[in-house]
Amino acid sequence: MTMTREDWSARAAKLQPEGRAFIDGAYRHALSGKTFANINPATGQAICEVAECDVADVDLAVASARKAFDSGIWSRMAPADRKRILLRFSELMASHSEELALLETLDVGKPITNSFTGDLPSAIGCIQWYAEAIDKLYGEVAPTPHDFTAIVVREPIGVVAAVVPWNYPLSMAAWKLGPALAAGNSVILKPAEQSPLTAVRIAQLGMEAGLPPGVLNVVTGYGETAGRALGLHMDVDAVGFTGSTAVGKLFMKYSGESNIKRIGLECGGKSPHIVLADCDDLDGAARAVAAGIFSNAGQVCNAGSRLIVEEPIRAQLLERVVAIARDLRPGDPLDPATRLGAIVSQQQLSSVMGYVKTGRDEGARLLVGGGRAREESGGYFIEPAVFDGVGSGMRIAQEEIFGPVLATISVRSLDEALKVANDTIYGLAAGIWTRDIRSAQKAAKALRAGVVWINCFDKGNMSAPFGGFKQSGSGRDKSMHAFDKYMDWKAVWTAA
Ligand code: NAD
Repeated sequence: MTMTREDWSARAAKLQPEGRAFIDGAYRHALSGKTFANINPATGQAICEVAECDVADVDLAVASARKAFDSGIWSRMAPADRKRILLRFSELMASHSEELALLETLDVGKPITNSFTGDLPSAIGCIQWYAEAIDKLYGEVAPTPHDFTAIVVREPIGVVAAVVPWNYPLSMAAWKLGPALAAGNSVILKPAEQSPLTAVRIAQLGMEAGLPPGVLNVVTGYGETAGRALGLHMDVDAVGFTGSTAVGKLFMKYSGESNIKRIGLECGGKSPHIVLADCDDLDGAARAVAAGIFSNAGQVCNAGSRLIVEEPIRAQLLERVVAIARDLRPGDPLDPATRLGAIVSQQQLSSVMGYVKTGRDEGARLLVGGGRAREESGGYFIEPAVFDGVGSGMRIAQEEIFGPVLATISVRSLDEALKVANDTIYGLAAGIWTRDIRSAQKAAKALRAGVVWINCFDKGNMSAPFGGFKQSGSGRDKSMHAFDKYMDWKAVWTAA
């Protein structure tokens, strides 16, 4: 059945979102009894109250996770049995797709079409992928002298804290939960304070699927309290973090100040999207440039936020990108026709609009957008914006805006394009459009980024790793490489 806006709204009205934490197999209020309001960014109205967990709740969750881990009920279960439970988990997520997509859309204001046909299948597919992978993960036999045998085995690292952001709450959680749970760890998931709803819902589904109590806990609350307590906890063995570079750096400090827990970081970006003058598909490039910065209202870590274009085609390309931006009107996220939803919070909206002002003050030319939209809804919407005449040193070219704001920098050669592309503290992703294989390969080698796209942008699936160079992070999500964050190697020597 094709769902209309009215269908989705009717279903949303019937939802009773859960705002309590999930610890040791049960929903719980914060021990302090404190809560905070969870706001729907499309209306500015409260959805529900959320448990404001603090140090004491984190202690409880870590103790539960540790007990489950040490008992071996999950950590020593045969991989094929963990696989069966995780596959059931993914099936339960699939059979609750409508509900989970709605929760995600209400929580963060992203279009329901994106939640339902993008975020949900991606999160479900991720859990499935790691379930399928875990009974195919082998250790090693080392090439030792004849009178010894050394086997090198992978072991789960122990208690893992997964601290995730609000832009893709469920997918980002799945990227951590998939490998961490499949490996046999116990996990404490800390969703962003703006987006706890799908996290607390899937914890219950995990239990129904057969995850033993304590193996998957969800601690809701603020970063400065609950997140910090996880980072500093002496009994957390690893943190899988996705979020800003500033907070990523804090986790490295927390680790050093506590038990040198392993820290995996997926942080911010300012990805260059290069279009060379020999590009033979300007329409395709323009669509990719627009999608690369306007999807999810620009709240994407690998957003192609810097368009680096060779001068001879700048005007033609920008004409196309601006036309797409003009057509892209922010709309009600519950309307399946909506392609551009809300910005996650009033604070984030103010920050993005502040950058639009900064760009103008710095002397860049605003070609389209940048104004507030749908103010009458009470929500936080902005028109997609395109700047031309940006200098690489400007703040709008250097800082992660995390909104639908494109900064265009004109260059006169491939070498200049590559120099500008690498002129940032970030190194998450990069794209280049050219029909010359030599230019493409030269760029792929020169670009300091964890992902490079040639004649496409923002492509990926579970089989290839994702993560950043430089201050975009360390370690990789997705693919078999993600197990490195959540497993340890042990060398076992036996004398013949
Ligand atoms: P954020 O860094 O503010 O928050 C991320 C998480 O850290 C949240 O759960 C938050 O509660 C917690 N946190 C915040 N302050 C903390 C503190 N002092 N101590 C401990 N924990 C704390 O990021 P955000 O605003 O939620 O998300 C946007 C950022 O995430 C952007 O920079 C974006 O690029 C990045 N991101 C990166 C990727 C990637 O894969 N590289 C993916 C998505 C988002």
